[in-house]
Amino acid sequence: MATVIARNAALLGVRCRACGTLQPADTRYVCAECMGPIEPEYDTAALARDGTRARIQSGPQTLWRYAPLLPCAPAPGAWPTGWTALVPVPRLGAALGIDDLWIKDDTRNLTLSFKDRPVAVASARAVEQGCTALACASTGNLAGSVAAAAARLGLPAYVFVPAETEPAKVMAAATYGATVVRVNGSYDRVNRLCATLADDRSSWGFVNFTLRPYYAEGSKTMLFEIAEQNGWRLPDHVIVPVGSGALLTRTATAAAQLVATGLVPETPMRISAAQPAGCAPVSDAILDDWRAVRPVREAKTIAKSLAIGAPADGDGSVAVVKRTGGSAASVSDEDIVEACSLAARTEGISVEPAGGTVVATARALARRGVFRKNERVVLYLTGNGYKQGAAESLPLGPAIAPDVDEFLAAYPQARA
Ligand SMILES: *Cc1c(COP(=O)(O)O)cnc(C)c1O
Ligand SMILES: [Zn+2]
Repeated sequence: MATVIARNAALLGVRCRACGTLQPADTRYVCAECMGPIEPEYDTAALARDGTRARIQSGPQTLWRYAPLLPCAPAPGAWPTGWTALVPVPRLGAALGIDDLWIKDDTRNLTLSFKDRPVAVASARAVEQGCTALACASTGNLAGSVAAAAARLGLPAYVFVPAETEPAKVMAAATYGATVVRVNGSYDRVNRLCATLADDRSSWGFVNFTLRPYYAEGSKTMLFEIAEQNGWRLPDHVIVPVGSGALLTRTATAAAQLVATGLVPETPMRISAAQPAGCAPVSDAILDDWRAVRPVREAKTIAKSLAIGAPADGDGSVAVVKRTGGSAASVSDEDIVEACSLAARTEGISVEPAGGTVVATARALARRGVFRKNERVVLYLTGNGYKQGAAESLPLGPAIAPDVDEFLAAYPQARA
């Protein structure tokens, strides 16, 4: 029972980033010639002639409005995903010393993280290939997103997470009926386990491994939306949290495709990387004079979503940041907690520590004088604080009797 999903007619195939060969977009997930990483390639010249902007604007209010630049159509019945808000945050900007600061709010995506974007595309591709199950190695958010997508599509899900993953994220995945496998070891060990399992389970779709070329395509939609919401113009600067580096590298791919199809004018956009000091292989390589990425053996940070010691797109991320004139910071857990609280208190947005990492990076770059006057800066806020707050507990005032005098005695600041 093969479900027919429309292939994008503009999809030319997959091109190897190592040897450059263009190959058919079949079930391969690495280059058939050299095992290098492959990426879908589109006929951007045809799209440029084709009234693509009008087609996008009359499309659904989901990430699938960018179907001309995605490899396949959505899986039938999949939940609507993406098209989250781009919002100015002047109070946070003032606190950080940034003139024109905006956030892309993926804390309010389908399962409360940006992972719904790559999963939307990877799961559609899994249905197209006739996969019998969805699987993934996850630092937490991907597990919930894959579990929800699999439930909706009627497929079993096997999600593998480090045993130390935040309980709220593990429970979210379990709630959707996934088989949640907690593994004693780092994310990189979990990843290797999945690679071994994938060897003799060709009918399972490992979304961030055997479906990775398609998974990563979903990450492009974050910048597609930002550009459209910004009046079909690239912002001057985006700050991107880095785990595997898929989101950061595909932000650059997305910008290049928007320009190649004539959807936005060619204007410079700097891309900067945000990582926690306890696991900052990419930021450290950038700050250490653009050297090669060295794997981090033992990640130790509150920002568990970003705790990937050997990022698949690590060197690619360094190259993108360098090429676009961006920068990086690796920020302490203390600064991350403070930044989560700052975003919440100044703008009413609750972010998980990955978001705090981005806010703290913006502060570090502002102090270093990286931003120019009136530069439009967009922060990628990729995960919700309701899943995992940064603060274990906050000091609360006393509980009181339902009595006005007792209230005013305990909270004198509220006196009229
Ligand atoms: C996975 C994740 C990231 C990093 O994405 P990569 O594409 O792996 O670099 C950032 N923020 C959150 C909240 C995540 O879950
Ligand atoms: Zn190759």
